[in-house]
Amino acid sequence: MEYVKSKIRDVQDFPKKGILFYDLTTAFKDPRALQTIGRDLADLYRGKGVTKVVGIESRGFIGGSILAFELGAGFVPARKPGKLPADTISCSFDKEYGKDVIELHRDAISPDDIVVIHDDVLATGGTMAAVYELVKSMNPKKIYINFIIELSALNGRAVMPTDAEVTSLLAY
Ligand code: AMP
Repeated sequence: MEYVKSKIRDVQDFPKKGILFYDLTTAFKDPRALQTIGRDLADLYRGKGVTKVVGIESRGFIGGSILAFELGAGFVPARKPGKLPADTISCSFDKEYGKDVIELHRDAISPDDIVVIHDDVLATGGTMAAVYELVKSMNPKKIYINFIIELSALNGRAVMPTDAEVTSLLAY
């Protein structure tokens, strides 16, 4: 993971002043770092019977797809409003300024599923908490929550559901 860490680029003042943005594109473009991220994510969940990985738009699609492939599970996208073509369920959540909405297909998860919800970065946790609510409403057997990076200072853990195991590969 030290190698992966060395490939993550910090961008000051993106997308606005005062935010230190952890840019994973520089790790994803590096073959060794990408392979390490994929293997280490999968190692967390091997043998747990995971049947679906939910990836959160858009940066969660990358690690989420690799994780699903490695585990032999299916992949489900959680998307911004109006992007999914069939019947959806949606959840709104607070952002730093105003509100946002996230959607899943209504038939994406079934009660016999064991689910990992994946995103690249845990910041305030609002996005993940909303996706968790949607997945939970479809009554799967178990839900795990996963990030590549956790920004400890923003304390997103505080809004994570108490009944889900939350794991991240790297903490800053
Ligand atoms: P959250 O505040 O946890 O709801 O963060 C929402 C999304 O914004 C996450 O999916 C991350 O991809 C992204 N994000 C928020 N803050 C950062 C940051 N400092 N660096 C990189 N990505 C971030």
